[in-house]
Amino acid sequence: HAKNSGRNTYCFFEDAMQKRADQRLKVEKELRYAIDNNQLELYYQPQLDSAGQCVSAEALVRWNHPERGVVAPGEFIPIAEESALIERLGRWVLRAGCWQLQEWQNDGIYLDHLAINVCARQFHCGDIVQDVRDALDYFGVDPSRIILEITESLIVENVIDTISKMNELKTLGVRISLDDFGTGYSSLRYLKQLPIHQLKIDQSFVRDVASDESDLVIVETILSMAHHLRLEVVAEGVETEEQLALLQARNCEYFQGYYFCRPVPSAQFVAYVEEARNKATLAQI
Ligand code: C2E
Ligand code: MG
Ligand code: MG
Ligand code: MG
Repeated sequence: HAKNSGRNTYCFFEDAMQKRADQRLKVEKELRYAIDNNQLELYYQPQLDSAGQCVSAEALVRWNHPERGVVAPGEFIPIAEESALIERLGRWVLRAGCWQLQEWQNDGIYLDHLAINVCARQFHCGDIVQDVRDALDYFGVDPSRIILEITESLIVENVIDTISKMNELKTLGVRISLDDFGTGYSSLRYLKQLPIHQLKIDQSFVRDVASDESDLVIVETILSMAHHLRLEVVAEGVETEEQLALLQARNCEYFQGYYFCRPVPSAQFVAYVEEARNKATLAQI
């Protein structure tokens, strides 16, 4: 009897694993189709400076799925990352972002920077330098206006590859931001060695910064270290005025979060920037 139930359990797990694999293959196939058929869309979230001006934005990809509606990246980026699909998706994001930056500029919306996320497989396995160069050239975007957001774990995965590619990107003129700072396998050595321009304080530290003394200390320490190393800092996940005030008082340079605006489609982003601009003009009168 014991043997039997053991076998049943085994079959059950094998079944579940098979289902998972089938599901993954299905999503992968749909995603391949999505990239070629215009189902992906970039949303944009404003990044404000300490004067309250929207000076840049982070591009965050969404999948407009015909049946499931708007799908968040957490549900498909990891699947894309398990295959070479992420490289195609990554190229699509780079091109869409560069195109948008120029398009806004033609419409009178000028942003200093656009931040674009790059994940590990895209960085290490693909030719990220060539992909970035192609997108910039194709749309005539100044390299200094693109900030690539990478994570600490990406660095640790392949330090040699990271150093050489980051130096090439630096030569190209593109900037690098360390996303989710403080949550990965960080090594402070890399902050000194690598051409990093900016740190993004992870939202998990920002969340309780006003109520948790430890989080406040962590945020203060990150800011102080970053400034001594001449890195600029973005706080992500700012949701309240209190959090903003605390961060501002400690000379954080840039702010991003629901307190200002959620990630939104391009048209809404433009509306946000124009409304903010009108308010600023009214304030001067
Ligand atoms: P991330 O780069 O750390 O992006 C920040 C995430 O926090 C976004 O989730 C954003 O919507 C969310 N967020 C922003 N402000 C707030 C806030 O005030 N409160 C809270 N609770 N959340 C906030 P999203 O858009 O679901 O993206 C999740 C992750 O997916 C991103 O994390 C990034 O790692 C990845 N991702 C998104 N777009 C791309 C892409 O184009 N390429 C790659 N490789 N990864 C992407
Ligand atoms: Mg990011
Ligand atoms: Mg982040
Ligand atoms: Mg994050």
